[in-house]
Amino acid sequence: MKIRLNDTVKILSGNSKGKTAKVTKVLSSKEKLYVDGINIKKKFVKGQGIVDIQKPINPSIVSLVCPKCGKQTRIGFVINDKGFKDRICVKCKSVV
Ligand SMILES: [Zn+2]
Repeated sequence: MKIRLNDTVKILSGNSKGKTAKVTKVLSSKEKLYVDGINIKKKFVKGQGIVDIQKPINPSIVSLVCPKCGKQTRIGFVINDKGFKDRICVKCKSVV
C-alpha cells in the first residue's frame, strides 16, 4: 500500500468527501486505513448507549496531500543511490 501512517490524505468520495485528515492506522493485511475523524458510525452498545465507532476506509478513495508542496498528489517510486525504493510526490518530486 502506498499510503502510510501519519500521511495527510484528502478524502475523494463518501460522506467525508473533500476533507483532509491524518492517517491514524494502516491495516496493510486488509488494505484498509483509519483516517482521523473519518467514517465514524454511531453504534448502540449494551450498557453504554450510543457510542462512536470508527470504521476503516478503502485507500482507493483517498489521495495523498504532499507535505512538501501541499498539493493533492499521486505517489511514485524511485530507487535511491542506496538501492532502496523511495516514495516521491509526482508533482514536486520530493521524497515523502
Ligand atoms: Zn509534492
